[in-house]
Amino acid sequence: MTENPIGTLSATSTLLAEAAQRAVRYLEEIQDRRVYPSAEALRGLADLGGPLPEKPQSPMEVIAQLDEIGSPATVASTGGRYFGFVIGGALPATVAANWIASAWDQNAGLRVASPVAAHLEDIVLAWLLELLRLPPGCGGAFVTGAQMATFTCLAAARHAVLKRAGWNVESAGLFGAPPITVVVSEEVHVTVLKALAMLGLGRDRVQTVPCDAQGRMRPDCLPRLEGPTIISVQAGNVNTGSFDPTGEICEIAHSAGAWVHVDGAFGLWAAATPERHHLTKGIAAADSWSTDAHKWLNVPYDSGIALVREPAHLHQAMAITAHYLDPCAAREPMQWGPESSRRARAVEIWTALRCLGRECVAELVNQCCRHARTFADRLRAAGYEILNDVVLNQVLVAFGDDETTQKVIDEIRADGTCWCGGTVWHGRKAMRISVSSWATTADDVEKSLTAIETIASRFR
Ligand SMILES: *Cc1c(COP(=O)(O)O)cnc(C)c1O
Repeated sequence: MTENPIGTLSATSTLLAEAAQRAVRYLEEIQDRRVYPSAEALRGLADLGGPLPEKPQSPMEVIAQLDEIGSPATVASTGGRYFGFVIGGALPATVAANWIASAWDQNAGLRVASPVAAHLEDIVLAWLLELLRLPPGCGGAFVTGAQMATFTCLAAARHAVLKRAGWNVESAGLFGAPPITVVVSEEVHVTVLKALAMLGLGRDRVQTVPCDAQGRMRPDCLPRLEGPTIISVQAGNVNTGSFDPTGEICEIAHSAGAWVHVDGAFGLWAAATPERHHLTKGIAAADSWSTDAHKWLNVPYDSGIALVREPAHLHQAMAITAHYLDPCAAREPMQWGPESSRRARAVEIWTALRCLGRECVAELVNQCCRHARTFADRLRAAGYEILNDVVLNQVLVAFGDDETTQKVIDEIRADGTCWCGGTVWHGRKAMRISVSSWATTADDVEKSLTAIETIASRFR
C-alpha cells in the first residue's frame, strides 16, 4: 500500500489536538490583551505572504504560523471589551459545536447529503419562531448574515407582489414587469439598499419616509400605497437601537396589499425577553423578517436567518429543479435559500438554544442592555452628552464638538482597553457603544469606562 502524500488520520488527531490547544490559549489570553491589534502585530502579517509555495510544508508548522502570526493580529471582538458596530462574541459551547461541525464537513444544501444538518434546521426554525414570537409555520433559510437574509426575504417579497399582479418574476425576469414601489425610511440600513440593488429593484428608486428624533419611521408620512409595493422597516436602528412602529405600518400596508419586511438583524432578539418584547410589538404582523444569529445569539460567523410568513413565496423564489434532485416531502434546505452547497449553520444555533434555553437567551439580551445603560448613565453623569434614548444595547455619546469627539474616539482606540465605533447622528459626530457580547462583564464595563473617562477628560 502506498502512503497518501496528503496526510494520514493519525497525523490528523495530533494536528487537531494541537490546534485545539492553541485556540484554547487564544481564548484564555483574550481578556488580558489589547482589543485592537498593535501596529507591530499588523506589520507581522506580511510574513504570511511571499511567493506561492511550490513544495508542501508540514501542517503542524503551517498551523503554528497561522496562530503565532495571525492570532496577535486578530481583533479581540470575541472578548468582553469590544463595542464596535454590532458584533457579538461566540459562546464557548457554540465554538465547540463549530469544531465538531467542521470535522463533520457536511454539505447542508441537501437533506440526502446531510440528514443531521437538515434535521437541525427543522428543529431550530421552529424554536426560533417561538422564541422570537413570530407565527409558527413560517418558511426560513439559514444564510451568511442579515445582508443575505434581507436579500432572501426581499426576493420572496418581489415574487409575491408580482405574482399578485399576474407576473412570474423568476421565469420572466423584471424586463417588462409591472413596477414595484419600494418604501424605506431615511434611516434604512445600507444592506437593505444593497439587497434592492442585487434584486434589480434599484437602490435609488426607493421612496423615503422621514423619521422621528430616535430614527423611527413616521407612519403618518407614508406615501399613498398603490400597486405592487414592498415596505422595509427596522427593528433596532444601528445607531439608536430604536424600533419602527411596525404594527401600525403593517395595518396601513396590508390594507393596500403591500408586503412589509422587517430588518431585525439584532433588534428582533428583544422579542426573546419578557422585559423588552414590548419594543417589538406588532412585528409579528409583518410578512418577512431578517436577523442574525452571529450578533445577539453569539454564535460564530457566519450565521443569518431569513424568515417568511407564507412559506410558498420563499420556496417559489428560491426553488430549483434538476434531474439528480429527488422531489422530497421534507424541507430541502437548498430549495429555501440562495445558496446550494454550504456549511451546517444550524449546528451552532441549536447548541446555543439548547445550552441557554429561553431563560438565558433573555438574560443574554438583558445583560447587554443593562451594560449599555450603565455606559450611558455614567458618561452622562460625567458631563458628556448621550444623544439617544437608550432603549436597547446602543449608546451614542458626544464628548464635545465633532473634532473633540473624533479625537477621543481615536485615543480610545489607540489605548486598546476597549474599542468603540464612530458615527454621525443628526449631523453630529458621536461615538457608538454597542454591547452585544455574552462575554462583557460588569468589570469590563468598569475598565472601559475608566479608560474612556480618563481619555475624554484630557479634552475638556
Ligand atoms: C448588522 C446589520 C445588518 C447586516 O448584517 P450582516 O450580518 O453584517 O449581514 C443589517 N441590518 C442591521 C440593522 C444590522 O445591524
